Amino acid sequence: MVGDVAIGGNAPVVVQSMTNTDTADIDDTVKQVAELSDAGSEVVRITVNNKDAAKAVPYIKEKLLKKNVDTPLVGDFHYNGHVLLTEFPDCAQALSKFRINPGNTGTRGRDKNFSTIVEQAIRYDKPVRIGVNWGSLDQQLLAQKMDENNQLPVPKESKEVMMDTIIESAVRSSQLAQEVGLAKDKIIISCKMSGVQDLITIYRRMAAVSDHPLHLGLTEAGMGMKGIVASSAALGILLNEGIGDTIRISLTPMPGGDRAEEVRVGQQILQSLGIRNFIPQVTACPGCGRTKSTYFQELADEIQGYIREMMPIWRDVYPGVEDMHVAVMGCVVNGPGESKYADIGISLPGTFEEPKAPVYVDGEHRVTLSGDHIGKEFRTMLDDYIMK
Ligand code: SF4
Repeated sequence: MVGDVAIGGNAPVVVQSMTNTDTADIDDTVKQVAELSDAGSEVVRITVNNKDAAKAVPYIKEKLLKKNVDTPLVGDFHYNGHVLLTEFPDCAQALSKFRINPGNTGTRGRDKNFSTIVEQAIRYDKPVRIGVNWGSLDQQLLAQKMDENNQLPVPKESKEVMMDTIIESAVRSSQLAQEVGLAKDKIIISCKMSGVQDLITIYRRMAAVSDHPLHLGLTEAGMGMKGIVASSAALGILLNEGIGDTIRISLTPMPGGDRAEEVRVGQQILQSLGIRNFIPQVTACPGCGRTKSTYFQELADEIQGYIREMMPIWRDVYPGVEDMHVAVMGCVVNGPGESKYADIGISLPGTFEEPKAPVYVDGEHRVTLSGDHIGKEFRTMLDDYIMK
């Protein structure tokens, strides 16, 4: 349990995200956590990198609760987590999980520092994520593995050894945490890499040797379309094999971009795979030479935007609305078929059709719309369908 969110076992795959604000800036961080939470992030991670950040954490939690945002917060610790969690008990208490990177628990006393964080997790009854990243791998362990494999200095082609090291680091750290006294079911593991094939390979291997819940994510996925496509390709394959209990899409935001995009992408991956529904699915064809003007694209976009805007209200008032399926199609070729398959769908007239738009409800032709207000009338029908 991360706060009141279950991860692993038969629990639904959880979508999480991470802020990019300075945690010491309380108002900025509260604002972004609230935005991510509104977008549907079920857990939000914040960096806790220094004393100011650690001091800010309980105030962030308090301000969020005043705004009715009770999304569990995870503290991301590197290098000095053992110091911060010991010196700032209110920070430890306010967090719902600690993320530990075994490669970044300090240059000296690595295991001791790791154990100190685990002791704080036991004291405050918090779970931990042992998050191994190939970009911050335990160098001592890597050197040892390379040595065993007679591959010093580290050659590029020794990825296999790096993967062995990542897995060994995760497994050893989990064992150490349990030796310190942390219950096994309080440990989540991640083994992030930045290449799609590498990620698939390492998570398949990890899933084969461990029964801890797995946090899935392509680290440093990249910007815009590249990050979205790479994350979808990697996570799609793994999730489809039943690997992964919580996901985070690590997109580099475009300048001025919306941080919550990573939450929507995560939700859409799960929804496209049929694993979880978050919002009514809008099926729209790509349009082609048969599409009349841009009206069809505009209506599809308008309906999608309307659904997104209304979801925070609908979710509470109409349970199950997220399982709905709406179709907005461009012409008679596939329009009636897709519309019949949807709960409610409209087939707009193509270039050579009469200016009429049949609407299908629950697979049956209900009405044919025409004139200048087709979009508005379809939206009213959509509202009626949801309210019925
Ligand atoms: Fe083109 Fe019609 Fe197919 Fe849409 S449904 S892509 S408009 S042929």
